Amino acid sequence: MARFSSLAEKLRFQIGRDGPLPLATYMQRCLADPEFGYYTTRQAIGRRGDFITAPEISQMFGELIGVWCVGAWEALDRPDRFCLAEAGPGHGTLMADLLRVLAARPDMMRAMEVVLIELSPAMRAAQAERLEAFATAGSTVGGAIRWVDALADLPDLPTLLIANEFLDALPFRQYVKAAGGWRETGIGLNETGKLARLLLPVLADPAILPQGADREAEGSVFEHASAREAVIETVAAHLAKNTGAALFIDYGHAASGFGDTFQAVGDHRYRDPLAEPGRHDLTSHVDFERLAAAARASSIAMPRLATQGAFLLALGLLERAGALGSAKSADVQDGIRADVERLAGPAAMGDLFKVLQLTSPDLPLAGHS
Ligand code: SAH
Repeated sequence: MARFSSLAEKLRFQIGRDGPLPLATYMQRCLADPEFGYYTTRQAIGRRGDFITAPEISQMFGELIGVWCVGAWEALDRPDRFCLAEAGPGHGTLMADLLRVLAARPDMMRAMEVVLIELSPAMRAAQAERLEAFATAGSTVGGAIRWVDALADLPDLPTLLIANEFLDALPFRQYVKAAGGWRETGIGLNETGKLARLLLPVLADPAILPQGADREAEGSVFEHASAREAVIETVAAHLAKNTGAALFIDYGHAASGFGDTFQAVGDHRYRDPLAEPGRHDLTSHVDFERLAAAARASSIAMPRLATQGAFLLALGLLERAGALGSAKSADVQDGIRADVERLAGPAAMGDLFKVLQLTSPDLPLAGHS
């Protein structure tokens, strides 16, 4: 059935026939095309993959999220059935590190049903392998681990949800200020038939533009991701109905602004997002101001936002690092110190990455002041 030998060829054919694609559609096709999509075909994450995420840097990340989960379960008055969910679990590393911490709490393990939200069959297989020890019969996890396609499929139970670098992978629209207004960007074909960026004959809905948009110079860029806001709305509604708490961790900005953050990463380097579609990870920075506003519009507690650095330090990163390094060689201790710096240091992930916490009303939780 393979009519095309690459996604570039397939997209060129379809754009030639049907016209340019909005950036959001291009991104979606590159990430999720059933034949050639990035997440469908590649083992993306990790030192040998294309990019490295916090849980792949150090076990301390998942362990501290585990500490947060224990606190949240206790704040919920230890429900005797609850759902521990993760959206976009990658290689399952965060979940494995977190479950090791929860294993010290058999009462919590017995009450828990683990649900992973993952679209890609390749990623599901990697997660199943990584979590095999926790999922087999006789393990301490109350229900077996299961997979669902979408957040809407979460069971109606008190829920703790984690999502690390999930939102950045959801498509966004991009607009450029032009003479006639803010025009949506897209991908079309240039004179030589190659994929090229262009402006579509579509104007931004003025309601989505942030304050100050009218004062921006021509060429200024604005990005808007309704798919990410929809995730926050779905989770907020779920928490309002069932109680619980959620953490969304990602790179992005605390206040909406202007600028082109569309990026491609392959083999640990920034790439041209139009070169070799399906070969590189495509993302953009997350607008946390918009997400917090989406959460505030629903009937849950005030959303709280912290930098990843402040969040991890409040959960005990330094204490955990000290315990992990105690009685170890100087080399191992140096490695742990470097990991702490990478996760929480302001020049590394500490400030760029943010943690948005949503809770059902009146849950006092650690990690946010
Ligand atoms: N949380 C992991 C992986 C981040 S990569 C880590 O920190 O290492 C993004 C993950 O989200 C991948 O597992 C990818 O397959 C998944 N994903 C991307 N888009 C998705 C969608 N729309 N629905 C469900 N999962 C998705």
